[in-house]
Amino acid sequence: MRKAKVAVLGATGSVGQRFIELLENHEYFEVTHLGASDRSAGNFYGDVMASRWKVSSHIPPYAKKMKVVTCKPSETPDVDLVFSGLDSDVAGEIEMNYAKAGVMVISNAKNYRMQEDVPILSAEVNPDHLDVLSFQKTPGKIITNSNCTIMGVTITLKPLMENFGIESLYVVSMQAVSGAGYPGVPSMDILGNVIPYISGEESKVETEPQKCLGKIEGGKIVSAGFATSAHCNRVPVIDGHTVCVSVKLSKKTTEFEIKKVWADFLGEPQKLGLPSAPAVVIDYKEEIDRPQPRIDLNSGRGMTTTVGRLRPDPLFDFKYVVLSHNTIRGAAGAAILNAELVYKKGLLKVD
Ligand code: NAP
Repeated sequence: MRKAKVAVLGATGSVGQRFIELLENHEYFEVTHLGASDRSAGNFYGDVMASRWKVSSHIPPYAKKMKVVTCKPSETPDVDLVFSGLDSDVAGEIEMNYAKAGVMVISNAKNYRMQEDVPILSAEVNPDHLDVLSFQKTPGKIITNSNCTIMGVTITLKPLMENFGIESLYVVSMQAVSGAGYPGVPSMDILGNVIPYISGEESKVETEPQKCLGKIEGGKIVSAGFATSAHCNRVPVIDGHTVCVSVKLSKKTTEFEIKKVWADFLGEPQKLGLPSAPAVVIDYKEEIDRPQPRIDLNSGRGMTTTVGRLRPDPLFDFKYVVLSHNTIRGAAGAAILNAELVYKKGLLKVD
């Protein structure tokens, strides 16, 4: 199979930069177009990003010389797939235009996540949710990522749900500033501070895990039945969302058993040897004060979910702490892994 031709939409944003970085010399994908708003279009990516590139010391040379275009199918001819890191204010219409034009859309935006024929795909957690794509009426199909806050949480919950069942969930997040895009939260608001509010976040965190961990029945996704309560906080960390989780399980178990099912957890990406699949999906840290964003963020090139502090919970059954890289595992890296899965499974038509 030839490489799939792809465009990155929202290429200038926090998530877009990660796409550009992670797609350099990719085994399955060739980036042929970079899309953003009218403000950036018409200029070379290297010029637009001269003072906005934040994820490494150098903009990858392949992207520097590409001209940014607007996000219209006519501006990105011949692409097989688009990766969308678009602002949700504009993602709905633009992504649908691509789907109507027959292009597969791998989206990070919230707009289509809860639509019943759209999977919230997390490649290790629910690859069977790809079945619902056949219900989408457009020639191009839309696949979404979950919200970055629940990405690592749902990965840790999957083996718990399969082995012990989940009754209820309580989460408290400490979310990095890069989660708010660039330039994001003003430094005067966040330095030396904690902001106990992130617009729209708690409702996403309270609903997406159930769909993500749902079962396919009669070709449809039936959401899991557990209730979730969430507190979401913005903290002065650059990258990496840390989440304290308390969980009530259906069956009695032990810390030993939980650590074992986490250590054994592997998904289809590992079995298929997908390029972005981390060798270790869940890395449990025995040290008493881990995980920490500064130390554990880049585990598995930002794709491993790091967990620690598993202990009994007096109100629920167990509590623990999850760390996940919000712009890699929680966004661009997970989206690329999803695209690798559909490419490898032959669901992306590449002649
Ligand atoms: P961001 O830094 O604000 O970037 C937004 C991107 O959208 C920019 O490339 C911007 O282009 C483009 N854009 C804005 N208006 C546009 C328009 N009218 N037409 C075309 N392009 C337009 O945001 P982000 O943090 O990367 O987030 C992108 C998406 O991913 C959002 O939907 C967000 O909710 C989701 N997400 C983010 C994270 C994270 O950790 N940051 C994690 C998971 C999911 P210009 O530069 O030209 O304005």
